Amino acid sequence: MYSGPGVKTSPDFPIPDTMKAWVLGNPGELKRAEKPVPVPKRAEVLVRIDAVAICATDLEIIDHGPPASILGGMPFNKNFTPGHEYMGTVAALGPGVDEYKIGQRVTVEIHAGCGQCKRCREGMYTSCHNYGLNYGDVDKGHRANGFTTDGGFCEYQVNAINTLVAIPDAMSDEEATLVVTAGTAMYGLTELGGLVAGESVVVTGPGPIGLLGVAVAKAMGAYPVILTGTRDNRLKIGKELGADHVVNVRNEDAVEAVRRLNGGKGVDYVVECSGAPNAVNEAIRMVNRGGKVCLAAFPHGETPVDVAHIVRNNIYLYGIRGEGKSATHRAEAFMSQKRFDATKIHTHTFPLDDLPTAIRYAKDRVDDAIKVVVKAKGAAAHRVAAE
Ligand SMILES: [Zn+2]
Ligand SMILES: [Zn+2]
Repeated sequence: MYSGPGVKTSPDFPIPDTMKAWVLGNPGELKRAEKPVPVPKRAEVLVRIDAVAICATDLEIIDHGPPASILGGMPFNKNFTPGHEYMGTVAALGPGVDEYKIGQRVTVEIHAGCGQCKRCREGMYTSCHNYGLNYGDVDKGHRANGFTTDGGFCEYQVNAINTLVAIPDAMSDEEATLVVTAGTAMYGLTELGGLVAGESVVVTGPGPIGLLGVAVAKAMGAYPVILTGTRDNRLKIGKELGADHVVNVRNEDAVEAVRRLNGGKGVDYVVECSGAPNAVNEAIRMVNRGGKVCLAAFPHGETPVDVAHIVRNNIYLYGIRGEGKSATHRAEAFMSQKRFDATKIHTHTFPLDDLPTAIRYAKDRVDDAIKVVVKAKGAAAHRVAAE
């Protein structure tokens, strides 16, 4: 019988003692496992995972390790379950939780800061100074599910209530998995100044964050919004999400094209989502003097940057990590009010049992895959109900 000190459950949501989970073995190797269903503590709930989207960062973690960090080191062969872009249904409440109800649909953001360090106290919980410290004598209570603690490629997970975002019934499971991606784009625009109405914005790189960056910038009234990239099919989706102009950088110089499209001037903001080797140098030439550049992609390796150009032109550079400053809630507000259709970037759905196939689609962009979702909805609950 599933239970824990002070934990509330409901007969409507039977919870098994164990669940199906995928765990990371050696680099690139995901294995099936049976794990105990985790038990929520104070200020936490148990979420029955209904759908989880695959992110490029998951592929990075599965093959190479970072940015995941388990017990202070590489995540391999530690019974670690990756996956961080999930949504589901509240299935049990930890002691004292009255903010959510059993049966309520939620999506999650990733970072639950420690709540006690300088940055958490400033609301910058994605920059928590106790990042990854959640074990042994250094347990500060920090959690980043799918990065430093178990994530969503399984049937249930425990989440701090400050990582939950309530969603309306009208939002599909698949769409709800995209809220955190839109939240990352929203955080980038928040750091650039927030009030971007009437300001010119370039988004470089039409991956999921870039495409939803276009959608969020348009929803906030930016004009013009210019998207640059190399794949015409993705640039087309960018147009559907509201880009005023798209530039295929295989056909023309990205910096010249941006200046031409904005009346010969640089733009106010660039959100860099490509991670391309020369992306920073191009971005600092796309912005006007005093412009701001937000870096939202993880590039491989180090890149030389023209610092003199940045200093001479008073250009601001920001690195962002994740979906900070409650940006996920603002992104969800736009999505539930149908200010943009994030489902345009969802291309494929597989059952949780087929996770390796889903990962292959995401990694090799099989059939022009962008966002691939896996669904586990209720399988474990059905098993327990049948017992
Ligand atoms: Zn992600
Ligand atoms: Zn902290």
